[in-house]
Amino acid sequence: MIKNHVATQADTIADLIVIGAGPAGLAAALSAKEAGCEDVIVLERDNYPGGILQQCIHNGFGLHYFHEELTGPEYAARFVKKAESSNLDIRCTTMVIDLSVDEDGKHLITTVSPDHGLIIFKASAVILAMGCRERPRGALGIPGSRCAGIMTTGTAQRLVNREGLVPGHRIVILGSGDIGLIMARRLTYEGAKVIACVEIMPYSSGLTRNVVQCLQDYDIPLMLNHTVVDIEGRERVTAVIVAAVDPKTKKPISGTEQKIDCDTLLLSVGLIPENELSRQAGVVIDNATQGPEVDQNMSTSIPGIFACGNVLHVHDLVDYVTIESEAAGQAAAEYIRRCFRKQTEETEAAVQPLQEGAGSILFRAGSGVRGLVPQYLQRNCSDKYVMIYFRPDKIYRQAHVKVLLEEKVIIDQKKKIMTPGEMVTVRLPIESVHKQIDKLEAIKIFIEEE
Ligand SMILES: Cc1cc2nc3c(=O)[nH]c(=O)nc-3n(C[C@H](O)[C@H](O)[C@H](O)COP(=O)(O)OP(=O)(O)OC[C@H]3O[C@@H](n4cnc5c(N)ncnc54)[C@H](O)[C@@H]3O)c2cc1C
Repeated sequence: MIKNHVATQADTIADLIVIGAGPAGLAAALSAKEAGCEDVIVLERDNYPGGILQQCIHNGFGLHYFHEELTGPEYAARFVKKAESSNLDIRCTTMVIDLSVDEDGKHLITTVSPDHGLIIFKASAVILAMGCRERPRGALGIPGSRCAGIMTTGTAQRLVNREGLVPGHRIVILGSGDIGLIMARRLTYEGAKVIACVEIMPYSSGLTRNVVQCLQDYDIPLMLNHTVVDIEGRERVTAVIVAAVDPKTKKPISGTEQKIDCDTLLLSVGLIPENELSRQAGVVIDNATQGPEVDQNMSTSIPGIFACGNVLHVHDLVDYVTIESEAAGQAAAEYIRRCFRKQTEETEAAVQPLQEGAGSILFRAGSGVRGLVPQYLQRNCSDKYVMIYFRPDKIYRQAHVKVLLEEKVIIDQKKKIMTPGEMVTVRLPIESVHKQIDKLEAIKIFIEEE
């Protein structure tokens, strides 16, 4: 029924629709406005803008972008304030449920909201900024009873920081991603006993500073190479069974089981970019990042659809989200300008769709490199440099990040330490590839140990 409605009419027309009013969506929308695109609407399902930052009341945000240490809500407030002074049109409690393209190549965005019901927007360009979500218990397949007291750390964070509710008193955290680490400390402040943080890998997947400041400073044990193998309790969790795992196979080692009495199990076992809408629209998704494949302008495989922030790849720091999203906003404004020009001048070439070969060069992930973004460099790129982001596949000490161009290493950066919890950035000057830009097929990025 919704599909029929989508195919026949649009209720509101805009140049640019941004989906999500987190730091990514706000930065993208504001930079599109600054680049001359006036007709921008931001759609947000929650009842306030700011995204996940609004529940991250700890500090540590903004060190790179503002050169100041802010809390999450303070960081978000800077953009919300700017949005207000720029009269940015943000529609909260508006959930996007469908994204498609009509016969004219315009994007149809179907939304529902308690105040306005079903509304369809039509836009020349769309920026995907829906963030990411945590893996739930179902994605892990932990055996045991289906009792109360099991939730993701993000849910616990929202309960404590926004609703004023403490989810439990004796807590075990499975996974040592940043949210798990931050919540270990937060719940300790609220008087709960965090008994252990259990991690299947031989290292934490969170930032080193969070391991130190959130676990070590509060004597909370980090059980590496361990996992939860069973959950006990009828109405509510009463205990979890934790076992050591074989570091290679990740299988629990029989005989190492130990029972930990607790009333809450928090899951911090990874974030997944929120890409149901992207898939619906037919955007090509990268298996490694679980986000859309993009070029240096954050342009996806569908002309006019851009992506930025955690929906594109899971970031460690919001500062990089902002920088990347500003680039997406500028590129979307430029795309819209070109579309209008194209309508009047038939000779104007269409904006290149994202593809290997004719229009673009592939950034290829070599050894040690996971989740490389962007995946492509457009040959007609007019920027001075491109920022490349990735995560190492394990902990590296005194290793080199290298960029290889037709057998020649053009960048060699020595790093003291690289961990999977922290994104690595490489700044690639376009002049370094300029001479070969017409014939190059791929640029390889890899890690080499000394
Ligand atoms: C616990 C935790 C601790 C962190 N600590 C730090 C830190 O110390 N320092 C730091 O720099 N970074 C930190 N980060 C990371 C930072 O918060 C994120 O990188 C950043 O918030 C991502 O921004 P985003 O806009 O991509 O996503 P989000 O902030 O998640 O925003 C996405 C928005 O899209 C909306 N949305 C989703 N789907 C739809 C839809 N279908 N229709 C309408 N709206 C939709 C959501 O409601 C949300 O508001 C932390 C993150 C977490 C979770």
